[in-house]
Amino acid sequence: MDELSAVLDRTSPETALDFDAIVIGAGVSGLYQLYKLRELGLRARVFEAGTGVGGTWYWNRYPGARFDSESWTYGYSFSQELLDEWDWEEHFAAQPETERYLNYVADKFDLRRDIQCKSRVASAHYQDDTRSWEVVSEDGRRYTTRLLITAIGVLSAATMPTIPGVETFQGQSCHTHYWPKEPVSFAGKRVAVIGTGATGVQTITEVAKTAGSLTVFQRTPQWCAPLHNSKISKEEMQRIRADYAEIFARCQETYGCFIHTTDPRSALEVTPEEREAFWEKLYSEPGFGIWMGNFRDILTDRQANALISEFLARKIRQRVKDPVVAEKLIPKNHGFGTRRVPLESGYFEAYNQPNVQLVDLMETPIERITPTGIKTNAAAYDFDLIIYATGFDAITGAFDRIDIRGVDGVSLKDKWQDGPQTFLGILVDGFPNFLMVMGPHAGLGNFPRAAEYSADWVTALVRFAHERGLTRLEATAATSQAWTDHVLATSEGLLFAEVDSWMTGINRNVAGKQVRRVMRYSGGHPAFRQRCDAVAAGGYRELTLA
Ligand code: NAP
Repeated sequence: MDELSAVLDRTSPETALDFDAIVIGAGVSGLYQLYKLRELGLRARVFEAGTGVGGTWYWNRYPGARFDSESWTYGYSFSQELLDEWDWEEHFAAQPETERYLNYVADKFDLRRDIQCKSRVASAHYQDDTRSWEVVSEDGRRYTTRLLITAIGVLSAATMPTIPGVETFQGQSCHTHYWPKEPVSFAGKRVAVIGTGATGVQTITEVAKTAGSLTVFQRTPQWCAPLHNSKISKEEMQRIRADYAEIFARCQETYGCFIHTTDPRSALEVTPEEREAFWEKLYSEPGFGIWMGNFRDILTDRQANALISEFLARKIRQRVKDPVVAEKLIPKNHGFGTRRVPLESGYFEAYNQPNVQLVDLMETPIERITPTGIKTNAAAYDFDLIIYATGFDAITGAFDRIDIRGVDGVSLKDKWQDGPQTFLGILVDGFPNFLMVMGPHAGLGNFPRAAEYSADWVTALVRFAHERGLTRLEATAATSQAWTDHVLATSEGLLFAEVDSWMTGINRNVAGKQVRRVMRYSGGHPAFRQRCDAVAAGGYRELTLA
């Protein structure tokens, strides 16, 4: 028995808890969190709703699913052995490759023996007398644990549209998040896609290749930009491997942990020719450069934003042959980059195909889903398959779906009714021993980079507490309020904060999610880490530890 386990044994004999830590979710965050808890010698168990590991990459197996982060910035950085062993096949890996990767990680580090699949957590209630959580899975099994750690992601609570008649459709239908494991053929089928976010854009591009007909139902068009994906050769992978240290160091320095660095110039200080040349270059390069590596003011200055939006609009007009369709595909109610930019591989060209048509729901809204298809106020359409790419109850939605209760039975959902309140996006006052990896009000961005940091911070706090025999960790109300105020301040002046999207907490299909809220820390990852590091270095004085 090591020193740490001895402390644990001394601190919890009277309670005989099932676990030292329960982690909810076996995705990118949960797998790494388990690995770190094992290092501390803790008895940890991961509860996972799916039948396998991978989280986002287990669920979202819809056609065309892939990430927009460079693969070699997306993998875990914590194990040199893993970095040495894993070869990425593409610069932007598709879902099957990423799911394979996460399974490889689970096997390599022997994580599966502490992961309980098919175990969706229904409730978690804090018991102050034993300083522990009682966790109940949907099938009624009960477990007790000192620490409850959520690793439930930011986009894991999928939402169907609240259109009347959804349940009456007689053909096949599916939300992209719940895409079946068996291959789905579109050949000769009449297919509908509702939704044109990053998911819809990928799905539409792929389905258009083989569907008999594809009808896209678009409410809000998106400012999409080219992904420019390509294969990674063996030689290139060797070069990437040799550069890993530098790659990860660079990701640490950028606003969203992506490899792309913001250009320090203003879009307005260069000549129109320089601006155009720079934007042409960004448009021709892979990844998020056009969003994250652009002039410093395109997301804060209205004039700069209008200029880049006009550049993107011209691109859409060039790529879509029918000028009427092109106009419908150009966003009019928000500027470029103020919603999450979907990266695409031939999305606009799909609308040049004879088998693809666009229905603009701003002109002709859907009235209902019928047994044979979709009825707008202008026409009725028959389909064999309806695909719902209608998104997620983002960031807080997955928390809302679990009955989480803290001290005195206070519900987390009620506490967050007017928006999340956290300390560092990791702790919540009134919810002792409750830790969130990538919770609300943390920084978003290149997910694994941020998640690794978040899990490391959680692990350091847990180590600190256990080394001192502390069994109750809680943020104070005052420090939570101060952090929440700070988070709200970081979004001031950012154009995205004025736009409806999942990033501002809007989901028109979910009651109570119609008002914009600040859902994430917007001060950038370097500043976020600085704050979190300072709390740890100061001995967690902002917390009540007992
Ligand atoms: P989303 O961005 O929220 O898009 C949902 C779409 O469904 C929107 O076009 C929305 O229209 C539409 N919609 C919802 N309810 C509707 C209704 N009742 N009637 C008609 N249309 C309706 O969700 P998502 O596309 O799943 O993407 C969510 C996030 O996941 C992305 O922003 C991204 O962060 C992540 N993601 C990443 C990748 C990648 O890395 N490549 C791929 C997919 C997803 P409105 O806009 O009008 O509400």
